[in-house]
Amino acid sequence: MKITYACPRCGATNAAEAIESRSSLGCAACGGAVAIPAGFLDAGRICRCAVCPSRDLFVRKDFPQRLGIAIVVAGFAASCVAWGMRELVWTFAILFATAALDVALYLFMPECLTCYRCAARYRGAGVTERHGPFDLETHERHRQANARLRDAAPAGTAVTNR
Ligand SMILES: [Zn+2]
Ligand SMILES: [Zn+2]
Repeated sequence: MKITYACPRCGATNAAEAIESRSSLGCAACGGAVAIPAGFLDAGRICRCAVCPSRDLFVRKDFPQRLGIAIVVAGFAASCVAWGMRELVWTFAILFATAALDVALYLFMPECLTCYRCAARYRGAGVTERHGPFDLETHERHRQANARLRDAAPAGTAVTNR
């Protein structure tokens, strides 16, 4: 399985593969290493986050949000042009096709696992087992904990919250 995470030391985004066979994750930017905790995996399934102390993870679609937005914006722009040319049928055909494309993309996108606390993402076979979808209450709990952490950190200390 793969991981994409923000380095807890410098905040740089890192990616690593085959994390099930690693004992630590190295940062390409600052050289800092994160030791993968012992309870990270159980029978090949993720039990907790490898980067931060959180045990709360949620399943989400691995959908590139920018791509989704780009499709909607392009579709809307094209339909405006058609509207300006008084092509009513085309206007609605383009809008409908845009929505259909977004839905189709969403359905075919694989799922990934995300950490509530540090937003590390896990991809690969079996990563989503044992975990449920996004829960607002859990998210809120971690958001507040992160905010407290940030307030408590002395000035000049980088606290990653991504
Ligand atoms: Zn780093
Ligand atoms: Zn985490």
